Amino acid sequence: MLYRPHRRRIDNEGSSSYDASPMSLDDLCESLRNCQQCRLASGRTQVVFGSGNPDASIMFVGEAPGFHEDKQGVPFVGAAGKLLTELLESVGLSRSQIYIANVIKCRPPQNRDPAPDEVETCKPFLFQQIQLIKPHMVCSMGNFATQTLLERKVGITKVHGQPFQLSEFRLFPLFHPAAALHNDNLLPLLREDFQKLKRLLDAMVAPPQKPAVPASDQPVQMDLF
Ligand code: SF4
Repeated sequence: MLYRPHRRRIDNEGSSSYDASPMSLDDLCESLRNCQQCRLASGRTQVVFGSGNPDASIMFVGEAPGFHEDKQGVPFVGAAGKLLTELLESVGLSRSQIYIANVIKCRPPQNRDPAPDEVETCKPFLFQQIQLIKPHMVCSMGNFATQTLLERKVGITKVHGQPFQLSEFRLFPLFHPAAALHNDNLLPLLREDFQKLKRLLDAMVAPPQKPAVPASDQPVQMDLF
């Protein structure tokens, strides 16, 4: 049950509703097409807004576009993207069921780390995407996405695979697939975390259990002797 039927809109104060109001996800994407709000605009081929199901219940958030993403305008299409697709399939998910975006929408030169002011400038667009999509679960991939969404300094090595209940959604931090490609020790941990994710998602859609009958209400065993 990863789809919801209605498209959402968001008003200028950030509240969302199902009614017609000023901004939809497509509007937000269009409004960023020529964004010049930070220095990364000068080196990009195009803004990489996000892709997938706009009504998804689960969203994946990475750091920033790389070379292939910048060329194609789609997040996670290089080697890390291939690994992400494989990991998703290993737990019965397809890319068409989820939504993928990055904290930063334009490629930093030579894939350098995003600078703090670039993150500050671009992250409100990620928050707007989340408000519009309203996922139940957001999987942050790597340190940048995790720290941005948790709004505090944490190390992914410590918090990966642990769900955090935030006010609007549950956050599930994962190692970044690109890190797992460069460090053989991380790949088994990432695979394990995907299995944990599957169990969490299964629990979210499982029908509620019948409440246990209190001991005092249970039928009394007849004393036959
Ligand atoms: S990185 Fe974000 S803030 Fe900077 S130009 Fe691109 S879309 Fe605009």
